[in-house]
Formats: sequence, structure tokens, C-alpha cells
Amino acid sequence: MAKVVIAEEAGACYGVERALRMVQEAVEKNEKVCTLGPLIHNPRVVDGLASRGVRVVSTPEEAAGSALVLRTHGVTPDEERRAREVCSKVIDATCPFVKKVHQAVERLAKDGYQVVIVGEAGHPEVVGTLAHAPQATVIASAKEAERLPHAHRMGVVVQTTQSIAVLRECVGALLARCDELHVVNTICEATSGHQGACAKLARQADVMVVIGGRNSANTTHLAEIARKLCPSTHHIEGADELSGPWFSGAKLIGVTAGASTPAAQINDVAAAIRAMVGEQA
Ligand code: SF4
Repeated sequence: MAKVVIAEEAGACYGVERALRMVQEAVEKNEKVCTLGPLIHNPRVVDGLASRGVRVVSTPEEAAGSALVLRTHGVTPDEERRAREVCSKVIDATCPFVKKVHQAVERLAKDGYQVVIVGEAGHPEVVGTLAHAPQATVIASAKEAERLPHAHRMGVVVQTTQSIAVLRECVGALLARCDELHVVNTICEATSGHQGACAKLARQADVMVVIGGRNSANTTHLAEIARKLCPSTHHIEGADELSGPWFSGAKLIGVTAGASTPAAQINDVAAAIRAMVGEQA
């Protein structure tokens, strides 16, 4: 009979739990609450908040007169300034680990480094970080690093949810593009812990199930890590996407989840898999 094992570190991180708690407290005080963009990259959680009256807006002006939550990924200084002008209250749920990246790029730029951000261009966190060092360049791969012009001093930060393997490859390529390289590893503790636990479990598992939004960068990286070690890896958003034939013949089924996935969602999926394969929880 198959055994279902949840990774030692998986699911909602400190930053996401803190943000959800802040929104919950505002809703309980009967405040009109909006979030600037989806609070987290988990469509099911965002739908749950919408059913409690939490509105997603795309500009601070759309939330004029309401309380506006700045989400975990952070915002640009301009968006924050506008929010403070037009909203009745600003609830800053920016994760402290993201704020550290903002401080790091500001420091590197001030010290004269050509700043390089390793991450996904266009991701809300990277957009926010870039606004703190507008001269910075964003790269997502070693290939993109190889195309950068030579600079005397380069300073590197990395999107909090990036994989360490990508950072290593980019840093390796950047060494040839400058005389001095200063790397600030800003991958957050939750991300590195989740990735390590995912790899450990995927090495032993016959099938891996990775739970989290398809628009979630950290969940997508977890699925990539798992798939390299366990080809039978499935990225899902909820238990209703599970399919019995995935588990046929499997002895060990690993479950992990991105940093935006609450524990209840992980437990639902694990229970549904156990029911499919007949394992006692
Ligand atoms: Fe903060 Fe890391 Fe969670 Fe992002 S993944 S919210 S940086 S703790």
C-alpha cells in the first residue's frame, strides 16, 4: 500500500501568514478592505477573501476611501505614496524579507555598484525592487548574464523565491562580466527551507504532488526541483485536480506546497490522496 508523506517544510510561510492575519483583523473590524493586486499568488485563497468582501484593485486610486493592503511582494515607492494620499488607511503587509531586498539594492546603488537583480522581469516583487534602484538590470538566466556589458563593480541580489541553482549559474556567468562582484543572497529562509525539503522527499518518492497557484513563482520552482528528481511530478492548485491513475503502482507519494498554500489546503490534498490509495492517515 502506498504511503503519503508531506515534506518536512512546506506551505504557508511567515510572510503569507502575517499578511493573511493583517487582512483578517481588518475584516473583523468591519473595515472596507482592498488589496493592491491579489494578496498572494494563490487563486483559491484570494477567492475566499473576495467572498468576505475583500476587493482586489490595480491602483491605489481604485481603493480611495477604503483601507488598502500592500501585499507581501511589496510595491513601488510611488504606489505607496499614492496609497497614503487617497486611502483611509494603509496596511503594509510587505514581507520583511522583501524589504531587505529593497534595502540591499539601495545600498549597492549608493555604493556605486551596477545592480543586477536575478529574478523574473515583470513579477510584482521584482517590479517593486527595481523601483528602489531604477538603473538595475534584471536577468533570469546565465545566458542573459553573459549578454550584459562589462562593468567595473557589479552588485547582485536575487528574488526572494528564486532557486539557489539559478542564482549559482547567474553568479558564475557574471564573474566574467566584471572586475568586482558583490553578491547578497536574498533568497528567503522559507524558500530555501521548502526547496531543501522538497528535494529530499523527491529523491525517495515515486510520485510528487506540488500544491500552489500556477502563478506562484516559488511553487513553480518547487515543481521544477521535484520534477528533476522525480519525473512523475504534478503541480496542482487543489484536491479536485488529483487523478487516481497518477498513483498507480507508487509506493511513496510525496506532497509539498508553495509558500502561499495554507496548511488546510495541504491537509485536504493529502487526505484526498490517502483516500484514493487506501492509506490510513
Ligand atoms: Fe516572505 Fe519568503 Fe514568504 Fe515571500 S516566500 S512572503 S519573502 S517569507
